[in-house]
Amino acid sequence: MKVAILGGGISGLSVGWLLRQSGWSPTVFERQSCTGGLARSFQWHGFHCDIAAHRFYTTNQETLDRFSSLVPLVRNVRQSKIFIEGKWITDPVNPLELAVKFFPKPGLSFIWDYLTRASQSDVAAASFDSFALSKYGQSLTEFFFRPYTEKLFGISTHDISTSWATQKIRVSGILDMIKRNSKTYFRYFYYPKEGGYGAFCQRLYHDMHADVRLSTSVKALHTEKDKVVAITSETDTIEKTEAFDVVVSTLPLTILMRLLNIPIQLQFQSVSLVYLLLDLPQVSPNHWVYFAHKNYVMNRVSEFKNFSTHGVPADKTVLCAEVTMACPRDHIVERVIHDLDRSGFIRRENVIDTLLLNEPYGYPIYTQQYEEQLAGAQAALKEYSNLFLTGRNAVFTHMDVDENFESAQLLHETLMRTFQA
Ligand SMILES: Cc1cc2nc3c(=O)[nH]c(=O)nc-3n(C[C@H](O)[C@H](O)[C@H](O)COP(=O)(O)OP(=O)(O)OC[C@H]3O[C@@H](n4cnc5c(N)ncnc54)[C@H](O)[C@@H]3O)c2cc1C
Repeated sequence: MKVAILGGGISGLSVGWLLRQSGWSPTVFERQSCTGGLARSFQWHGFHCDIAAHRFYTTNQETLDRFSSLVPLVRNVRQSKIFIEGKWITDPVNPLELAVKFFPKPGLSFIWDYLTRASQSDVAAASFDSFALSKYGQSLTEFFFRPYTEKLFGISTHDISTSWATQKIRVSGILDMIKRNSKTYFRYFYYPKEGGYGAFCQRLYHDMHADVRLSTSVKALHTEKDKVVAITSETDTIEKTEAFDVVVSTLPLTILMRLLNIPIQLQFQSVSLVYLLLDLPQVSPNHWVYFAHKNYVMNRVSEFKNFSTHGVPADKTVLCAEVTMACPRDHIVERVIHDLDRSGFIRRENVIDTLLLNEPYGYPIYTQQYEEQLAGAQAALKEYSNLFLTGRNAVFTHMDVDENFESAQLLHETLMRTFQA
């Protein structure tokens, strides 16, 4: 059975690794010269840098055991803050704390608007905006939820689906605060002791490197009746077309649809990553900090040495700022330094080197229409009986690495059931 896996991020590597353990020899195609995709790490000035803050948190003990058997992990007690209107507050947002910190104005309106808001049952939550209004009231929505979400996605919260709110709204509910174990309100998280978050992918790659073709871009999928029968790929400008029995795609859904010549309207938000090397031992003890308002260009800033101190230079530190706001490429680095300096988080004169990366497929955008558009894409892809999709951008769902691995496990079982003679 010839299996092609498109993409060598955590999803592609996980499916390939599991299949290999079952005695199959899949071929993984990866466009970049390294594996890991969004969950990769790279070395810079002696630091292992991730694609923004990446932390491992799961409530599934089996998944945690599996990942700790892959690489040694450290357990970190989460330290994170939100910078808003010149004040530092707890992350995730706690409405009561906001009211106290911003007392009397606008703090009192947070409480008044919250108590007098139309309850959720009275309001059909048509969008992220109406969801936030019905749950937290007008003042909190205007002060925090609306600006941060619009900054992240670059569109109005009226155009964002309620799915985003229900999955990701950054607020701690009463139960979350007691349990402290949801994806938003985790109190601790795990992180590879060495090698950055990319150590997971590195380990999988180590076990199956013979099956992975790096710097190899998938250029075309060839179909016959209800099957994808062959793949054209390109390595060093040399094109090759090969037949396959089964194709697993972890590519962003829009890329796959383009390869199949099927129109699609779904969109991804790209994210720019600004890395700053500072001649200081540490900027703050936080793993990451959020900048909630649009007057600061960055959404979040992480400090890698706080995730694992193992083997990193003691006298320097690296920050990574995530930017999704529209900003000319030539100005992003300067704007981040300027904004961090004026917030008081760093001093410009401590920055001794910078690096800018861009990830065009950072976040699937849950517009009001995305569910319908996604259903249309799924229906079109169902035509191909030997084509399977897994992974965050392939299925257009915000998933973390642990969830990608669990999806890969399910797909592995499906493939074994369907194709093993
Ligand atoms: C800013 C940010 C923060 C995050 N924080 C966390 C976190 O804290 N914890 C966590 O667990 N997860 C986090 N995630 C999510 C996590 O990074 C992803 O869920 C995961 O990396 C997705 O893996 P994947 O393999 O499904 O997709 P990808 O990593 O996107 O892999 C797809 C691969 O396909 C390759 N490819 C694309 N086109 C082609 C082509 N034509 N031919 C061949 N190869 C191609 C790409 O190069 C890529 O390597 C975060 C993501 C982002 C963007």
